[in-house]
Amino acid sequence: MAHLIPAADGRTGVAMGCPDCRGGLGEIRDGDDVQYVCQVGHSWSPQSFVAATENDIEDALWTAVSAMQEKVTALRGLAERSHDPAARLRYLEEVRRVDRAAVLVRSQARRETRASQPPAE
Ligand SMILES: [Zn+2]
Repeated sequence: MAHLIPAADGRTGVAMGCPDCRGGLGEIRDGDDVQYVCQVGHSWSPQSFVAATENDIEDALWTAVSAMQEKVTALRGLAERSHDPAARLRYLEEVRRVDRAAVLVRSQARRETRASQPPAE
């Protein structure tokens, strides 16, 4: 549920950012119709806002998977080059921890990708 914040320009500010420019959104109500509008004029229906944020979430999850894979690669390199057995063990434990997290995030990213694709006819 969005928190409503009074805005100086008469719109009701909501604690949501514009998917296009990240500016704060104001809410405009006309009966049951709701539009979210940012300062530069991007306008979103609740449905188009949900669709846009689904793409943002999917992109963020894949970015996290990529960052985790890069970290695992760097940690494996550190472990291989380390001459200190205790340090090597710490690097390998961190590899396992990040690898487990990456499996979970990758699984969620795949679910988001499937959810954002239109059903096959
Ligand atoms: Zn905007």
